[in-house]
Amino acid sequence: MKLAVAGTGYVGLVAGVTFAEKGHNVTCVDIDEDKVELMRSGVSPIYEDGLEALMRKNYKAKKVEYTTDYKSAYKDADAIFIGVGTPEQPDGSANLSYIATVARQIAESIEKDCLVVVKSTVPVGTNDKVEQFIQDFLINDVRVEVASNPEFLAQGSAVHDTLQAERFIIGTESEWAENILKEIYEPFNIPIVSVNRRTAEMIKYASNDFLALKISYMNDIANLCELVGADIQDVAKGMSYDKRIGSKFLNAGIGYGGSCFPKDTQALNHLAQHNGYELKTIQSAIDVNEKQKTLLYRKANDRLITFNGLKVAVLGLTFKPGTDDLREAPSLENVPLLLDQGADVVAYDPVGAENFSKHYPEGKLSNGSIRYVSSVEEALEDANVCFVFTEWPEIKETSAELYKGLMRTPLVFDGRNIYSIDVMETAGVEYHSVGRRISN
Ligand code: NAD
Repeated sequence: MKLAVAGTGYVGLVAGVTFAEKGHNVTCVDIDEDKVELMRSGVSPIYEDGLEALMRKNYKAKKVEYTTDYKSAYKDADAIFIGVGTPEQPDGSANLSYIATVARQIAESIEKDCLVVVKSTVPVGTNDKVEQFIQDFLINDVRVEVASNPEFLAQGSAVHDTLQAERFIIGTESEWAENILKEIYEPFNIPIVSVNRRTAEMIKYASNDFLALKISYMNDIANLCELVGADIQDVAKGMSYDKRIGSKFLNAGIGYGGSCFPKDTQALNHLAQHNGYELKTIQSAIDVNEKQKTLLYRKANDRLITFNGLKVAVLGLTFKPGTDDLREAPSLENVPLLLDQGADVVAYDPVGAENFSKHYPEGKLSNGSIRYVSSVEEALEDANVCFVFTEWPEIKETSAELYKGLMRTPLVFDGRNIYSIDVMETAGVEYHSVGRRISN
């Protein structure tokens, strides 16, 4: 089939390239000319394992192309997927202006019957409006319908999550639309759950917010564990054997970040309020997460009195490993607090430092300073205290002896619970984590 994809971010680019890999002819559209140039040269504008190789292979085979010329990409497409952003607005609602722009561009470009498929996460009922909006602005006499096909990939494993997806959700209002989507996804050989459009939109929020709730629940329990002398990791292990609970998303830490959970909890909460309903569970997940993000900073502040003049090693900047994305990362909340207090921050992240330096350029900042280094060892050298914000493999593999040997004072605050307390203790490292005892 001839497909077009609007937006080449984590969702759009991965969708476009995997559609090409499965035999469709795909044109990926973005408004960002630099991005398009980069992709044409075989370079991915985002970091995702395996993505660049698939981009090059399918570009060479002429199965995928990249352009800013939306008119020619949309005019004769069988289906157009929308994967542009829907960021959070100050009141918590989703900003639908990018979707509206693409909808208008589609209406003014299509010259044949076309299914518009919204992959972006949008509040329930949005796609009804998008369909009406496109029909209002249509220039040619063609059939156009809108389907919902929410995306469930996780950043860091986006290609794998698409090619080996657990299910595809398609939300349609006609057999015509349902059949087109089934044909597009047929080569993936993955179960398809076919529902109506509003239900598909709700499945996305209900799924993401459930995961956010699970994380906040474990963090809440972790905080109580600390007060009553229980160990959250053992608690999680004990819980994980129960198939009704499952073993995933039970890790306590410094809260969820990223471009999805924070905004999708806010958006569902907003939708509920708008409909006169109080979604107490989701509000609690949001509240717990907000507090959790600076938990370690507060603990360290208590322990040290001040960070003024201290060399602070920061290991990990991205919101999770496997991605260069910093959106809503705990590092973005903690580093400014440290700088305000006069800390000299030395930060290491294997891929996130460049993006972080756009927010916090190297040099003197606020009352302190920040410097980016290319290894864990350089960050730890002579440090008075270390924070772990992201569990990148090389950070996980850092030995207790290295902390002890390199730091001026071996004092570690681990926001991801990646080390054994006993091992840290034996090596002589003062080790604080989340929901567990402090090493002696
Ligand atoms: P992103 O910000 O990484 O990418 C959006 C892209 O759209 C950008 O490259 C931007 O330049 C482009 N764009 C903006 N206006 C455009 C237009 N008129 N035409 C063409 N391109 C345009 O966004 P993302 O992280 O890929 O998220 C997209 C949507 O998918 C959001 O609704 C998000 O909630 C949802 N989602 C994201 C993830 C994820 O892990 N990132 C997972 C599931 C769902």
